[in-house]
Amino acid sequence: MFYSNSKLIIPETFNELHSYMLKKPNCMFFAGGTYIMNNKTYLKDEEQSIVDITHIREFSEITRNIRYVDVGSTVTANKLLEIGKLAFNDLLLDTLHNTSTHIVRNLITVGGAVCTPKIRYSLPGTLAMMNTVVEVVDLTQTKLMPKLIPIDKLYNSKGELMLERGVLLKKIRISLENYDFEKFSYVGDPIRTPESTVIISFRANIEQTVLNKVNMSITFPTCGLYLSETMALELNGAQLPISISRVKAISEKITEGVTQEMDGISPIQKERCKRLIQSILFEIEPDQHSIEATE
Ligand SMILES: Cc1cc2nc3c(=O)[nH]c(=O)nc-3n(C[C@H](O)[C@H](O)[C@H](O)COP(=O)(O)OP(=O)(O)OC[C@H]3O[C@@H](n4cnc5c(N)ncnc54)[C@H](O)[C@@H]3O)c2cc1C
Repeated sequence: MFYSNSKLIIPETFNELHSYMLKKPNCMFFAGGTYIMNNKTYLKDEEQSIVDITHIREFSEITRNIRYVDVGSTVTANKLLEIGKLAFNDLLLDTLHNTSTHIVRNLITVGGAVCTPKIRYSLPGTLAMMNTVVEVVDLTQTKLMPKLIPIDKLYNSKGELMLERGVLLKKIRISLENYDFEKFSYVGDPIRTPESTVIISFRANIEQTVLNKVNMSITFPTCGLYLSETMALELNGAQLPISISRVKAISEKITEGVTQEMDGISPIQKERCKRLIQSILFEIEPDQHSIEATE
């Protein structure tokens, strides 16, 4: 039924996939199917083949060294959560925990979550915070030239995916750098009410009473992904705890900056963005251990 107009191809090796893509460059990749199957019009008029990439073993591999973890594109959100307990920080683990239900997380793949064409959910924002790079390869070319690019460069200013048809995300490389304060927060429901949802991933280092290396991404699912440099400029070197008036001023400045730079942010998203930033900043406390150690 679902595949009524389309031909389903299930390659077992990367070479098989490549040979097929050279003949039919207009194919659509199918991973967990949670996005494709939820989109009633997605395959309707397309007389194209669908390539299920989940049977290619190397795409489900995970390898790690001391600095980063390489995660194949068909690794599921649950698998990442499982191995992540040993390696990843709270920011990524919280993001994954807050991604739908256990059953859906068993289907959602890393590649699919990063490559949804028009809408941005939570995972790309958190991965961008973690200096994640992705390996992409154009399978429509005879000579394969894999490229490593920062994850946020996959999207335009509206958050739309800029990968051409036939370009496959092979793996993502997640840096294992640790931060002192990390927070994943969201308001709304990214699937049911994406127009009013706001998702923030935040991290920073704390040296005694001083905040530094501040980084934040704000995701408005239907408008895009925003990486805030204003936040870093405003907060690097700030003394903790940050006063109420400063928190309010910073949250307003960032929210104004975002709404000027991005189109389509609704009034409710604007208000929610401001409040989320405030609640995160109020949570950051001086590092008592290092203060006591130097006393
Ligand atoms: C109930 C529900 C809740 C969700 N909650 C969250 C959430 O909290 N956070 C979040 O981040 N996401 C969330 N999602 C969205 C989910 O990340 C997307 O549905 C995503 O597309 C899932 O990956 P998939 O493997 O199922 O993708 P598929 O549906 O198989 O594919 C999605 C798109 O990506 C393309 N694609 C897949 N793999 C590749 C690849 N390797 N290279 C290039 N293109 C590829 C496909 O062609 C298609 O266009 C949720 C989804 C559902 C249904």
